[in-house]
Amino acid sequence: MTPFRADLHTHTTCSDGTYSPIELVELAVASGLSGLSITDHDTIAAYAEAVPAALKNNILLLPGVEFSAAHQNETVHILGYGFNLNSPDIQSLCNKHQERRTKRLQAILELLHKKRMPLDPSDLASVTSGHPASIGRPHIALAMVAKGYVSSFQQAFDLYIGEGACCYIRDPLFSVEETIATLHQGGGVAVIAHPHLIKNPRLLEQLLLFNFDGIEGYYGNFSLLDNQRWLKIAHQKKWLLTGGSDFHGKIKPTLPLGRSWVNRERFDLLSGYHAHLH
Ligand code: AMP
Ligand code: ZN
Ligand code: FE
Ligand code: FE
Repeated sequence: MTPFRADLHTHTTCSDGTYSPIELVELAVASGLSGLSITDHDTIAAYAEAVPAALKNNILLLPGVEFSAAHQNETVHILGYGFNLNSPDIQSLCNKHQERRTKRLQAILELLHKKRMPLDPSDLASVTSGHPASIGRPHIALAMVAKGYVSSFQQAFDLYIGEGACCYIRDPLFSVEETIATLHQGGGVAVIAHPHLIKNPRLLEQLLLFNFDGIEGYYGNFSLLDNQRWLKIAHQKKWLLTGGSDFHGKIKPTLPLGRSWVNRERFDLLSGYHAHLH
């Protein structure tokens, strides 16, 4: 019997991933996963397709999302799990993010236009499939590569749209407190995403004081040795421990689906399946 593995950090075409929700569910099954959470940036739109696909393909699907939040002018990613997919609080936060992203896109396109790198809706449409609920900077980067403005996806970030570059827009994000509270209102848990990537030690110190329920200890290509620090923190704080690949498909080809995962016990703790045992 294949051991139970659940990848709890994945993206679809509803944000900046390259697999549709159905394709992702099918790939998860083909990759030998027994559980999956789709954590698109600031949207839960994938679940409309993913829920029936998961039932059909006999894989356990845990509601998830990756919210962008701000703390002292720095962006923080917060994973949410196990919330009610019909929660008006969560839906409303997603809607506010969509408005923010649409406005930010316009502002970035204006800056790029001034730099003689115009992009029109058809340029963006050619790098997204359909209309992603969350349009993101990776889409802009792909369109810039397709137009020949930059030679690579990474160069688009380094020279133009990455944090601090000339066409970067820092738009107002919702606070960490507000994001955690919304996830709790929706019946879910709030988890610090990829602490491995937090470069500012003061930011990390402060995040650990918030009302989080868990931390993403197993992440992407990081080794078990790299993960030790986060496993220790989860243990000390009696927090949930989560894990996932951050699979995006073709835009991040070095991160295969299932690269990081959690076992059955951790999956059940998150989904509350075993609530009756406690
Ligand atoms: P957004 O949420 O639209 O601001 O896009 C954020 C995403 O862009 C992140 O999740 C990364 O995948 C990608 N990204 C941000 N900064 C960089 C960077 N400097 N280099 C490459 N990718 C980046
Ligand atoms: Zn992403
Ligand atoms: Fe992230
Ligand atoms: Fe992610």
